[in-house]
Amino acid sequence: MNFSEEFLQALSSARHVAVLTGAGISAESGVATFRDQDGLWQKFNPAELASMEGFMSNPALVWEWYQHRRGIIGGVEPNEGHKALAAMEQQFEKFTLITQNVDRLHQRAGSSAALELHGNLVENYCMDCRAVYHFADEKAELRENPRCRDCSGLVRPAVVWFGEMLPVETLRAAQIAAQDCQVFLSIGTSAEVMPAAGLPMIARENFAYVVEINPQPTVISGRVHSVIREPAGIALPRLLRELDQFRKSRV
Ligand SMILES: [Zn+2]
Repeated sequence: MNFSEEFLQALSSARHVAVLTGAGISAESGVATFRDQDGLWQKFNPAELASMEGFMSNPALVWEWYQHRRGIIGGVEPNEGHKALAAMEQQFEKFTLITQNVDRLHQRAGSSAALELHGNLVENYCMDCRAVYHFADEKAELRENPRCRDCSGLVRPAVVWFGEMLPVETLRAAQIAAQDCQVFLSIGTSAEVMPAAGLPMIARENFAYVVEINPQPTVISGRVHSVIREPAGIALPRLLRELDQFRKSRV
C-alpha cells in the first residue's frame, strides 16, 4: 500500500466525500492552462479575451478565442484521473465534485454532476434573460455577435471572466459540501485563487481528512493531512485499487 492507513481508513468510513479539481487534471488530458497557450493567442492579454470589457470592445475576437478553446476541448479525452473520480462517485453515500475547470471533461468521463465554479465552455447565455445556447456546431451563428432569439439580448460564453464573481449558489453549495464532508481531496489545483482555495481549509476546520494530490507543492501543502506528489491520472486509479483492498482486508 502506498497511501497511509489513516487516509484509507478515513475514506472507507466516509459518508460524504468532496473533491476540488483544478487545471492540473485537465493539463493531463492536454488542455493548456490559460497562461500556457499556443503562439497565435499568446500576444493577447488574458483580460482582452476573458473579461466583460474585452467582450464589449471586441466581441468577434472573444468569440473567436472561445471557438478556438472549444476546438481544443473537442480534440482531447478525459484521462484516468477523470474516470477514477467518476467511478468513485458510485462508492459513497454522498459525493460532491467541485471543479475550477470549464472543459466538461468530468462529465464526459461519466461524473453525473459537477459544481462548476468558473462556468463551462459548452454553454452560452443571454445576458438579459439567461436563456442558454449551444453554439458548438453552429459556427454560422458566431460570425456576427450572437443575439438571443427570445429577447435579442447579447449572448456570451458561460464562463466566469476576470473581474466577475463566482456563481453565488454554486460557491455556496461547494462551501456546504466542504463543511459536511468527512474526506476532502484537492486535486491538480495550485489552491491560490480565492475563494475556491478556501474550500480545503473549510473542510479541515470542520474535521474532514484533507488530502492534496498535486505533483508540485502548493500554499496549502503544509496544512493538509496527507500529500500525494503525483498526477491525478496515476494517483486516483491507484487510490481506487488500494481502497478496494483496504475494504476487503477489513471484512
Ligand atoms: Zn434573452
